[in-house]
Amino acid sequence: SRAQAGDAPIRSTDNDAAVARLSAVQKQYLEDPFIKYLVPRAHLQPPRPPLINIGTYVRSSAIDVLVDQWLELSAVSGQRCQIVSLGSGSDTRFWRIAARRAGPLKQHMQTYVEIDFPEITTKKAMAIRKRKDLMAGLGDPNGVLLAQGGTALHSPQYYLLPGDLRQPPSELLEPMLFSPRENGRAAILDPSLPTLLLFECVLVYMSPSSSSRLLEWFVQIHKRARTGALGCIVYEMFGLNDAFGRVMINNLRERQIYLPGAEPYPTSESLLDRFLKTGFSAARALTLKEIRKSYIPSEELERTSKLEFLDETEELDLVLAHYAISWGLLLGNSDMNATWGQ
Ligand code: SAM
Repeated sequence: SRAQAGDAPIRSTDNDAAVARLSAVQKQYLEDPFIKYLVPRAHLQPPRPPLINIGTYVRSSAIDVLVDQWLELSAVSGQRCQIVSLGSGSDTRFWRIAARRAGPLKQHMQTYVEIDFPEITTKKAMAIRKRKDLMAGLGDPNGVLLAQGGTALHSPQYYLLPGDLRQPPSELLEPMLFSPRENGRAAILDPSLPTLLLFECVLVYMSPSSSSRLLEWFVQIHKRARTGALGCIVYEMFGLNDAFGRVMINNLRERQIYLPGAEPYPTSESLLDRFLKTGFSAARALTLKEIRKSYIPSEELERTSKLEFLDETEELDLVLAHYAISWGLLLGNSDMNATWGQ
């Protein structure tokens, strides 16, 4: 394995994200009956500060809107779509979709794939097998198999797969996702179907050249197949070359977390450039501050503003302005996804 000795602090960010999500759920910003199963000693975790809860809420709701739109557009067009979450950590999105969309919409999701370091996928696979509520989302338990020494889990619709995303995609992802399998079964992903990639707080831990290579590679695969659209959602910190950014970067460095992907992306425009330079045909970006101000429905803003007392609204705006969701789209032959993310 090419795992690098310094990766443990990067993997530890998964627990931060999961604990933040759990806290936002406990404080009733978000609904998620599954996250408690993926946080060790969930009942002992102290809540996070209001600022973190609000950030988690805004990010999670906004990404939900984009993912739901993708599923709905695919359903309307009668196509089965695929979702690939890279650096998926303890994310519960698959189970939330499976629970909410037990009806026809869920039927339009052909495959949902999650990829993370083997240490993370092994823990997640064990948690899934242990919890009835998580197993229930995967359908018939006889169709759920551990693979690759317990680092992977396969089921008819959901796959959890181990890997280091900094490896060249032709070595890691090509054989893992797009090659026929040993048991004679088809490849896990079909490049001709509409496919949505999710990178939630992941690319910032990789060098810009590794992340561009990854995006370019997915674009090439989809261009070759030419039918389904390719969508990509990225969530990350950005604009870190100001005073706030220096504080953030220093805090992370103290934990030995380095952000090779943070430095060359100082503005919203460069978040868009990353998509356009890697072959996507359209891109948009919004900061969490903008999303909270203009896209969260007013009833929701009112509801969440009553959940906790927040005295630092200026600080909140400053923090939210340093996180962005950006998304890119490459249309296939069918233009059903053309209105996605508008
Ligand atoms: N996407 C999840 C979420 O939003 O809850 C987890 C976010 S967590 C901050 C970052 C995740 O990316 C961790 O689980 C970490 O292990 C994973 N990650 C970072 N670099 C990676 C790499 N090179 N290969 C695979 N996974 C990686």
